[in-house]
Amino acid sequence: MDTERFIRSISKSNVHYSENEDMRKNTSFKIGGIAPLIVYPDSAEQVSSVIRAANEYGIQYYTLGRGTNLLVRDEGIDFIFIKTTLMDTMKAEGCTLTAGAGCSDSRTACYALENSLTGLEFIHGIPGSIGGACYMNAGAYGSQMSDVVQSVEYVDADGQICRLSGKELKFGYRQSAIGEGQVVCSVTMQLSHADPEGIRSRMNELINRRKASQPLEYPSAGSVFKRPEGYFAGKLIQDCGLKGCVSGGAQVSDKHAGFIINRGGATCKDVLDLIRRIQDEVFEKFGVHLQTEVKII
Ligand SMILES: Cc1cc2nc3c(=O)[nH]c(=O)nc-3n(C[C@H](O)[C@H](O)[C@H](O)COP(=O)(O)OP(=O)(O)OC[C@H]3O[C@@H](n4cnc5c(N)ncnc54)[C@H](O)[C@@H]3O)c2cc1C
Repeated sequence: MDTERFIRSISKSNVHYSENEDMRKNTSFKIGGIAPLIVYPDSAEQVSSVIRAANEYGIQYYTLGRGTNLLVRDEGIDFIFIKTTLMDTMKAEGCTLTAGAGCSDSRTACYALENSLTGLEFIHGIPGSIGGACYMNAGAYGSQMSDVVQSVEYVDADGQICRLSGKELKFGYRQSAIGEGQVVCSVTMQLSHADPEGIRSRMNELINRRKASQPLEYPSAGSVFKRPEGYFAGKLIQDCGLKGCVSGGAQVSDKHAGFIINRGGATCKDVLDLIRRIQDEVFEKFGVHLQTEVKII
């Protein structure tokens, strides 16, 4: 991949970048090969410049939030990442909160609390970014992003800065209308005023529930599979006797069978082998096809 002219072009717009990045350091799974280039735009305008340059020089790109829902291949990464971390401003006006795509979910929930705004308690323990949460329609404990998103600002695959309303985002289970090549830059959420003590106590309650049920002490990408209609993926996996099952450095968590953990040195191949084994055995025993929630790239 010839990135030289691309780098020269984005440098004119003062976009930060780094070369030869180890994806183990950029994903919560701590798995992945070397990415030739990660760029860090700090605004929708910079995202637009990056996408236009990528189109001009034939560079494929992939949007990277906090890498908490990703399984990245061990080698042969022939595209660049647009990482959203520097788009990290937050603003509250009345009951409306606007957060840059790179803001962490937890920080955004705490900011809502500081402004006595309720509605984001459920994302407090989700380790991703607001952009990733919107793209994935992240949810937990009976709430999801579609409950609060009013609109998003994003850049489309041609580099145009656009806006979509919550309705136009067509949220579904762990999905939205944000398509391939589109980068969410900021998310505006409609919340409600409430007593901060009540908000804090709900946030604490949900964090404690997570700590009790999830293997947070190990690297992972959260629930590997989507919830199949009428079942729980973790229960199906457990009922196949796969809890604790190992492939290289990867293991089906003993604590929560819906999680695959990296016990040290796991490769993408180790995880893929486990995923395939789980899918085969669950299908054989229950006739249910488990689909991955984790994005495999
Ligand atoms: C311990 C643990 C617990 C978890 N618990 C939950 C949970 O309770 N509920 C839940 O829903 N998820 C959960 N997750 C999964 C994950 O945190 C969420 O899916 C999160 O929303 C992903 O955000 P991210 O920034 O890490 O996205 P990434 O992993 O970086 O990317 C995920 C996908 O979103 C896309 N994307 C990211 N940012 C943008 C953007 N700005 N514009 C366009 N596309 C974008 C990427 O291209 C990719 O396809 C958990 C993960 C872990 C490790």
